[in-house]
Amino acid sequence: MRVAFLGLGIMGQRMAANLVKAGHEVSVWNRTPREVDGARTASTPAQAAQGAEVVWMCVADTSAVEQVLFGADGVASVLASGMVVVDSSTISPSATLRFAEKVKATGADYADAPVTGSKIAAGDGTLIFIAGASEELINRLQPLFSAMGKTVVRMGDTGKGQAAKIVMNLQIALIFEGFAEALTLATKLGVVPERLIELIQASMVRSGVVDYKAPFILQHDFTPNFPLRLMHKDIHLLLDAAKEARVKLPALETVDEIYEIAEEEGLADMDYAATLELLEKWAGIAVKTAA
Ligand code: NAP
Repeated sequence: MRVAFLGLGIMGQRMAANLVKAGHEVSVWNRTPREVDGARTASTPAQAAQGAEVVWMCVADTSAVEQVLFGADGVASVLASGMVVVDSSTISPSATLRFAEKVKATGADYADAPVTGSKIAAGDGTLIFIAGASEELINRLQPLFSAMGKTVVRMGDTGKGQAAKIVMNLQIALIFEGFAEALTLATKLGVVPERLIELIQASMVRSGVVDYKAPFILQHDFTPNFPLRLMHKDIHLLLDAAKEARVKLPALETVDEIYEIAEEEGLADMDYAATLELLEKWAGIAVKTAA
């Protein structure tokens, strides 16, 4: 298929490369000029989207999506009937409804398809897409989903993909903070971190979050898989969505305060697992591999 891929960050760079690898005809655009081997490089979102069947976005946040779609040289100026816009960024569910309505007014179709899986899954093409779109549209997009991911889970119509995605990150943020607090206290009490991780994974406390993060934690490697600033952005999306829906999220409000401090301490561009560094500092210990 002819695909325009917009946004070549940690995720988008790898997703676009997998589309090329699967034989699709790909044009790419990134705000800061960047290239993908085998893809045509465009100088504006509109230029990338011109003549494409599908325009796929993976940019930072809600305002970036708005800019790429409706800003100067945005995609909207070239949208036409038969084209499809897909958004794999994690953004506001209510803004998604507004964006989709404006896109659909041009005759094009819209799918929200944020992802879970992080940098490793983006690289090896095993992302999970969390889709808000009709079954018929998801079927049409299947060759592209298959090139970049292992599964598409349909959550419902427009916006439901984003709604489901942010609540996945609510759980990841809370599970990770629980893990980080447990490791900190255990270390202070003299338990070796590897032993605690072994115990966690043998018990009902086991989790994919711990599986993914433990090797990085034990090496104190906080290079970004998922940058802390983006998890913080998702925490704000959740708190905003909760406010709109009149739902209270007290545990997440506390975690938000930890992220505020983490950003003040200069950890924004590190992985979100770096919140552990604050706990370590406050406890006066370091959680590290015994080896
Ligand atoms: P990233 O590495 O920070 O890349 C962000 C991308 O957005 C870059 O291409 C950046 O362009 C672009 N961008 C930012 N502001 C923009 C604007 N105003 N207009 C146009 N482009 C703009 O982020 P990422 O990790 O790839 O994440 C991308 C999206 O996927 C985010 O919504 C994130 O929450 C979501 N996500 C990430 C992960 C993960 O593990 N990393 C997992 C699931 C979902 P420049 O290069 O010019 O800055």
